[in-house]
Amino acid sequence: MKYKIAVIEGDGVGPEIMNSALEILNTLTLPFEYIKLDVGYKKWMETGEAISQGDMDILKKCDATLKAPLYTPSSKEKNFSSVTLTIRKELDVYANIRPIKTFPGISPFTGLDLIIVRENTEGLYSGVEHSVNNGAVTERIITKASCEKICKYAFNLALKEGRRKVTCVHKANILKKTCGLFRETFFETAKDYPSIEAEETLVDACAYKLIRNPSSFDVIVTTNMFGDILSDEAAALTGSLGLVGSCNIGEKHAVFEPIHGTAPDIANEGVANPIGMIMAASYMCNFLGFKNEGEKIRKSVTEVLKEKKNLTPDLGGKLNTKQLTNKIKEVLIQKYLIQ
Ligand code: ATP
Repeated sequence: MKYKIAVIEGDGVGPEIMNSALEILNTLTLPFEYIKLDVGYKKWMETGEAISQGDMDILKKCDATLKAPLYTPSSKEKNFSSVTLTIRKELDVYANIRPIKTFPGISPFTGLDLIIVRENTEGLYSGVEHSVNNGAVTERIITKASCEKICKYAFNLALKEGRRKVTCVHKANILKKTCGLFRETFFETAKDYPSIEAEETLVDACAYKLIRNPSSFDVIVTTNMFGDILSDEAAALTGSLGLVGSCNIGEKHAVFEPIHGTAPDIANEGVANPIGMIMAASYMCNFLGFKNEGEKIRKSVTEVLKEKKNLTPDLGGKLNTKQLTNKIKEVLIQKYLIQ
């Protein structure tokens, strides 16, 4: 039996880093069949449709999706809606898990190992907007059901991973209805997990503490936009946005992707750091039950980074995407595959 993996190569640096991830996965003997899907802005320009119902049906039938970043224009341009957000909503992958772990020798901070659990389907990214008089309104939708699901997910993850504390990040002093509901649900949920410490912090204080004392955090749970911003900030502590992979998990589906965007400033130069994408692929291995393989990939990445000499330009090195991928592949084969 083969696991069906939907592959979205994405835009900008997407196809370059996806190549790397697939090359690393193909080095291992995994029963994976890849189904490439052409979705996104380019397809929309050509056909008027960024992702078809047929594409969505394929995504829903696959065992997992491996996805590179997709471009979304910032201008109001022709009502183009983010395909990434559409996929998250349609597949109801409500939990976005972003493990922020420092690599020895590379990261400015040592021993940092925190997990950001971000609600992925509502909040300020609900996409519900309208114009009023001379301005505009975005609805920040927060439902009790989603708060319960994401808070439970965070505490269960903390238990499973042997973590000691979950921090709820909110702005309930100002956003009393939406963040208030999130905070209240967090503390209700915490009662079912007496062995895990439940703490809270305001989002601005959290942004500050992440730089001043990042090791004070263990698991963070928060709403959609706060989680998006804080995880980019936390990624800087690892040394580069290009090092962090993530999982989007729901009851029926799972999508694995790097946390960064399409990096248009370095696209087509072949110098993007592929590690975030490779880490995402390793988390997919874990999710599908291939824990040893996932671990071997992460260990190979750590070994290569530890030497400090095989690095892409974002980390001050001179290697290109392919060269770094080859180094990781070399270590994977020599240290973990040849018996
Ligand atoms: P988008 O509009 O798709 O979100 P962006 O440029 O706003 O793109 P990112 O793509 O996340 O946001 O990039 C932010 C910065 O981080 C850019 O300078 C980019 O070059 C850098 N960056 C992101 N990913 C990588 C990577 N994999 N390797 C090296 N640098 C990266």
